[in-house]
Amino acid sequence: MSCWGGALRAPPQLFTPIEVSPPLNYNFPMSYEGKAKIMKDGPTEGTMIMYFKDDVTAGNGKKKDSIPGKGKINKAITLKLLQLLEDNGIETHLIEDIDERSILVKKLKIFPLEVVVRNKATGSIVRRLGLEKGMEFKRPLFELFYKNDELHDPLICQEHAFAMNLIYPDDLLLVRKTALDANEILKEYFSGIGFDLIDIKFEFGVDEKENIYLADEISPDTMRLWEKGTQVSFDKDVFREDKADLLETYREVAKRMGLKVEGI
Ligand code: 5GP
Repeated sequence: MSCWGGALRAPPQLFTPIEVSPPLNYNFPMSYEGKAKIMKDGPTEGTMIMYFKDDVTAGNGKKKDSIPGKGKINKAITLKLLQLLEDNGIETHLIEDIDERSILVKKLKIFPLEVVVRNKATGSIVRRLGLEKGMEFKRPLFELFYKNDELHDPLICQEHAFAMNLIYPDDLLLVRKTALDANEILKEYFSGIGFDLIDIKFEFGVDEKENIYLADEISPDTMRLWEKGTQVSFDKDVFREDKADLLETYREVAKRMGLKVEGI
């Protein structure tokens, strides 16, 4: 019996072998201000400071607010989750804690891809495929979105990513494995504090030596957490859908993670 579920089945072939030789069309980022964060050059070569703002947006910037204290909570949550992943063998961009709103990270060329792993159906996949909300996938689902605000980050498949020269096939294999491993680590961690990890978005990048790292923040802005039993949302859906107070919600996640965030 093979591990693919049947003796007669061939293992799934993930990628059609293709040659990719031209350099990828992405560069090291300069300092920039994003919707919820500011990235600035760090004190030494190859480093950046990730600063967490209080701003929150949804619907590609259509819905906006500023919630005092949100940046501090997301910074504390991100730091703890990046440390957890590092402790479990995932290479992340984390270098060290700086202050209540900032983390020092590796300077990376970020792939223009949003990597989403889903454990249960909700959000865009429910609208796209008509699935029942809450349906559990037979195995975690790995999806790729092209990072492009004007196009509202469309879903793409791996062949688009290769044809558009967004990532090398070997790099995507590693990104996929790392994202699925990180999902398992985080799923288990959140399960231990009473939440189901429904889905999560990751970003990845490469350093000067072309080593791949998991990048960006990991917070209730970038994942969905449902309380076990009640299935109540403890993530940005409370803001997207006006379901509850965002600060209260994020504060509760931080509290259950054992974090003390000063002044919020
Ligand atoms: P969906 O595709 O269902 O809208 O989102 C899937 C998961 O990825 C959710 O956990 C959602 O929070 C996260 N996600 C998707 N796109 C973005 C984005 O542009 N920004 C952030 N912060 N999270 C995103």
